[in-house]
Amino acid sequence: MKTVSPGRGGPIRLMLVELTLDEPERQNGVEAYPLLMGLGSMLGWRVSWCTLGVRYDPTLRYRLPPRDLGALLAEISRRKPRIIVINEHLQEDQWTRVKATRARLVHSSLDEGTLDHFADFVRQEIPEAAGADLDSPRLFDRIQPEFRRTILNKTPWAKLSIIRVVTGMRCSYRTHVAQNPYYRGIVPSAKTMRCSFCDLRRMAMPLRDEVSFAVRLIEAACRQRRVEKGREYRFETLGCRLWRRLGEFVETLTRRGVRSAELNFMPRFDELLSAREMISRCLPLMARGGLAMRLYGMGVENFSPAENMRLNKGVTADQVHEATRFMKEMAARWPGTFRLPPGGFSMILFTPWTTIEDLRINVNNIKRCPMIDPAFALGRRLQLFPGLPVTALAEKDGLVAAEGSGLFYNSGCIAKVDRQEIPWRFQHPEVDILWRLALRISSGHVFLEGARSSPPREMLDPLSLFRRAIERAAASAPCRESPTASRATGAVRRRPAG
Ligand code: SF4
Repeated sequence: MKTVSPGRGGPIRLMLVELTLDEPERQNGVEAYPLLMGLGSMLGWRVSWCTLGVRYDPTLRYRLPPRDLGALLAEISRRKPRIIVINEHLQEDQWTRVKATRARLVHSSLDEGTLDHFADFVRQEIPEAAGADLDSPRLFDRIQPEFRRTILNKTPWAKLSIIRVVTGMRCSYRTHVAQNPYYRGIVPSAKTMRCSFCDLRRMAMPLRDEVSFAVRLIEAACRQRRVEKGREYRFETLGCRLWRRLGEFVETLTRRGVRSAELNFMPRFDELLSAREMISRCLPLMARGGLAMRLYGMGVENFSPAENMRLNKGVTADQVHEATRFMKEMAARWPGTFRLPPGGFSMILFTPWTTIEDLRINVNNIKRCPMIDPAFALGRRLQLFPGLPVTALAEKDGLVAAEGSGLFYNSGCIAKVDRQEIPWRFQHPEVDILWRLALRISSGHVFLEGARSSPPREMLDPLSLFRRAIERAAASAPCRESPTASRATGAVRRRPAG
């Protein structure tokens, strides 16, 4: 199945360029690279993959330092690719410089949520691959994944970049719209919904079996990439169906001799609680086999029942505390094998509807939860995007604003350069003030400006400082709770945890 470059002689040359970010959880768009490399090899092409470590830029338009741009252009000149695929956008002048080479420059739109569009992407962006049987229902099983790559600069994180193994949809969580009093009649076209702020789309990966696909990718990566002595491979494994088969997955990896690898997972709290027994069974096996697991990035979002219901998160405070206890216990019992998330749990603390009471509930629970970094949580707010249920709710309540504050904010939800946030305003002005304060506390700037003397010790604790601000605001603001919030709170109180 070889395709030869017409006119220029020799095989077609495909070059993949990966910008590896120093914040691995923000890494996007390289999920398809091992498959693109494998597809190119299957077609008899000359394929290459090069990597440059860069610092994460929340605007998602990267400017390479001159030396890195020079290294990239030199690599292009050496390899003479016909097609270059790149996973991030460069600033316009640098994009133009790369485009000025004879290659066709393509931005990779394939990520963890769109990998099932692999065949469409190839058909559209790399039509030279028309000879491959892209419509095969087992396309991903036929391709031999390739992970070999050349690192073009010396950033330490480029060597250690996390390898994402996508086996399907991250999460299958859905609830009935009719069960949520906030959304009845708001999303009339839908019977069920995810978290109201989530834009995950349904995915149908062309796979025979998630476990064998993930094992095949991990084995290939371990064979083809070297890690320095004492270091480990790091994989982020995605797919709710794979998570449910964790025992089988771990057992297969250990049986096949995969060692020195950290497997990262991001389950929901309820999924973690349901998997406790399975995890407890896997850990001894992993410890013996030189594997480790890390849970990371799990989203509490909001401890207030009313806010939680608006976000349709479906996770209770009790579940979060129960999961925290389990994680701490496992980390103590299996040090080095069960690893805690370095950044703790994530939150959406402020929304357009937040009340002082919501903040009180959150502060109390954050204080109880050792897995939440208070300074980080204080700086988190909701982001609205077109087409999401929570955006429709904000529109209905008149909380969408004509203009934003002008300050660029990216909680991580802006993963594509063209994704535009819809600005919103706070329903309660006193919470607006508290948000501004929380943002300053969270970014550590509060004492930097105009301070004449050291702050009192208790003020160095961001949560205590914020709690004091809440109580001051409460003393001068009326108590607010909307009728829907009361109903929602009641509904959550009645619902058993688990
Ligand atoms: S936000 Fe997370 S938990 Fe909620 S539906 Fe999306 S992926 Fe699932």
